[in-house]
Amino acid sequence: MTTWRARAEAVMPGGVNSPVRAFSAVGGEPPFAALAAGSRITTTDGAELIDFIASWGALILGHARPEVVEAVERAARTGTSFGVSTHAEVELAELIVAAVPSVEVVRMVNSGTEATASAVRLARAATGRRAIVKFEGCYHGHADPFLARAGSGMATFGEPSSPGVPDSTVADTRIAGFNDLASVGKVLDYDVAAVIVEPVAGNMGCIPPVEGFLAGLRDLCDGAGALLIFDEVMTGFRVGPASAQGRYGVTPDLTTLGKVVAGGTAAAVYGGRADLMRMIAPDGPVYQAGTLAGNPLATAAGLATLRYLAEHPELYDRLEEAGAEVRRRLETAMDGAGIPGVVHHVGGMLGVFLGVDRVATWDDVAGLDTGLFGRFFRGALARGVLLPPSAYEAWFLMEDHLDGDLATALDALEEAIAEAGG
Ligand SMILES: *Cc1c(COP(=O)(O)O)cnc(C)c1O
Repeated sequence: MTTWRARAEAVMPGGVNSPVRAFSAVGGEPPFAALAAGSRITTTDGAELIDFIASWGALILGHARPEVVEAVERAARTGTSFGVSTHAEVELAELIVAAVPSVEVVRMVNSGTEATASAVRLARAATGRRAIVKFEGCYHGHADPFLARAGSGMATFGEPSSPGVPDSTVADTRIAGFNDLASVGKVLDYDVAAVIVEPVAGNMGCIPPVEGFLAGLRDLCDGAGALLIFDEVMTGFRVGPASAQGRYGVTPDLTTLGKVVAGGTAAAVYGGRADLMRMIAPDGPVYQAGTLAGNPLATAAGLATLRYLAEHPELYDRLEEAGAEVRRRLETAMDGAGIPGVVHHVGGMLGVFLGVDRVATWDDVAGLDTGLFGRFFRGALARGVLLPPSAYEAWFLMEDHLDGDLATALDALEEAIAEAGG
């Protein structure tokens, strides 16, 4: 009998629509989700797993949240896509503008990848400059200009990290070190249109900015006449009601949002200073468009999620406390098992690093013990806990974890750590 995995692999690269889902980094059978509710996913094999992937952070309220599901159902019954505008898009834009300090005007798109690519196009148009600066270990989606990493040193020009990306495309991408202002100074000059950063790095585990890093970027950009772009696709409405920029008190020129802002559906946003955003067509000459942009189903899910968050700001405090609890318990467990390790948390976003004592930069992450993580991951899965299937991914808390599943999961994770270390 052909398995679903074999059927999937026959017709899709790796059997998946996004590489991490193939579980290559941890081994074992990648699960197929059958359904989910609250903090749990039920697989097609019948396993019920407490989930810390949370659709890569999008699901801050939990799976199949009734408010969100009902909003999407209502929207679907009145039309799934129009090709003209809806009131709901205006309401969603108003909520975002009210909440996120840098954002005066927004444009909706369909994915984080589109949001960051569009923001960079706008930055280049607004400054008349070509180069961008990104940080090693930060992820901004898969558009060509971002698929570059440092060569031998930090202060080098980008080189493609994927075949199919022309050298000429990434020649204008310069790489600096996260949490290392000096490395930014070395690549920032009057050719740089923008510096783009995840204000809390979330695609190399979760690494908070060190004191002064974000403010320092703001000063460096102002000095060089470059724009500062915060890629808050992961952190937006996740690390606080005003996103990372509100939490850290640093205001970028442009911001990208995704994941939470679409409540677990396919949408994202870029926005920022009105004078910049008014350069977008049809107000201005910078072209950017989308057949399904502002899609009614995605807009309904985003609105339901952001409205709930606006009405329940205390959820952020509860996620913060829960993150601190995860940190305490897992660090204690790693100590007890004789495993070096460190846990970072920013709100309900977590970085659990096994095999290293200190993580502030990409170089620190490079020292992770991935074999140890694989054992830990498989031990957790065997005990009913689904972690992101890579040592380099952040974990996410949802509101539904807070009602008891977090405690259940932490008991299992403590055992999995002891087993992985032994
Ligand atoms: C997820 C993510 C993206 C890409 O978003 P997609 O919707 O997957 O294209 C971009 N930037 C950051 C910081 C992300 O976490």
